[in-house]
Amino acid sequence: MSAVNLGLPRLRVEPATSEPRPDNPALIDTFGRVATDLRVSLTDRCNLRCTYCMPADGLPWLPGKDVLTDEELLRLLRIAVERLGITDIRLTGGEPMLRPGLEDLIGQIAALRPRPRLSMTTNGIGLAKRAARIAAAGLDRINVSLDTVDRETFRTISRRDRLSHVLDGLAAARAAGLDPVKINAVLLRGVNEHEAASLLRFSLDHGYHLRFIEQMPLDAQHGWNRRDMVTASEILDLLRAEFDLTPSPGERGGAPAERWLVDGGPGDVGVIASVTRPFCAACERTRLTADGAVRSCLFSNAETDLRGLLRAGHDDEAVADAWRMTMWGKLAGHEINEAGFAQPLRPMSAIGG
Ligand code: SF4
Repeated sequence: MSAVNLGLPRLRVEPATSEPRPDNPALIDTFGRVATDLRVSLTDRCNLRCTYCMPADGLPWLPGKDVLTDEELLRLLRIAVERLGITDIRLTGGEPMLRPGLEDLIGQIAALRPRPRLSMTTNGIGLAKRAARIAAAGLDRINVSLDTVDRETFRTISRRDRLSHVLDGLAAARAAGLDPVKINAVLLRGVNEHEAASLLRFSLDHGYHLRFIEQMPLDAQHGWNRRDMVTASEILDLLRAEFDLTPSPGERGGAPAERWLVDGGPGDVGVIASVTRPFCAACERTRLTADGAVRSCLFSNAETDLRGLLRAGHDDEAVADAWRMTMWGKLAGHEINEAGFAQPLRPMSAIGG
């Protein structure tokens, strides 16, 4: 298997700033941001092979011994909720539904106190059968990745003929009472950008909340090219050809998506313009990888190994402090638009959305 070498980044503990950190239990940084939203990658494995994410023959997955055990994972999430002020937990992957015992894990995370709001980002494969159990276990809301409603385009992008599975999964998520049910869509120039309006029409007709995401330089094969990226303003132009869009009222806060009312509402559409309109100044996110590394940013090229601290017998407060120091060193933003930007060594599939 000639897959890409992951080449995961060198791990470190000390922050990238010399500024003394004030005595504050929360995940603060030197720009006044406070991280309360934790993204957790449950696995780096996936059952699709999306062209903008990984090569056709996949990647060398993390060895099982390197992946956090359920006990280690739950301990880190308990520390995050009880000691670090985390209020929102989003389960991601790779594909989180490939994590064995997912429903039981969700139940244990939902039992944490104070109870975190619990969401998941999935490709929807297998969701039709499991949505009711996942909702009953304690999941509150869900995002399903769907870049097209055309079978051939789906096969071209994901390299799998599984569109009907995803559509059934969406319907099951809605029937199970998960709310909202969001769709995350990436438009690729010359592949599916002509389907932007039909994706929105489909979402409005079924009561799903559609979010377009600018393609980010996070693919394992490092093939991202700014020219091929469909920008937020192009996406809005494509939609305006068929819909009347007006800015959605209400505070955006740290939410990644700019929201627009469609034809006067109540239906809306969101655009996450990570590259052309970065929202890093209000970022509330911190990330935990499946192998127990904490990252201050999706685009970090450094991370802190919490798994090592757990396995070396350090106590909860020492782990919490290492997490705090990592976030204290968080950079102002992703630097994609800066000269000398270096794409992270760790690919999206091993970081999570
Ligand atoms: S790129 Fe990094 S700093 Fe910016 S919003 Fe995303 S995670 Fe936050």
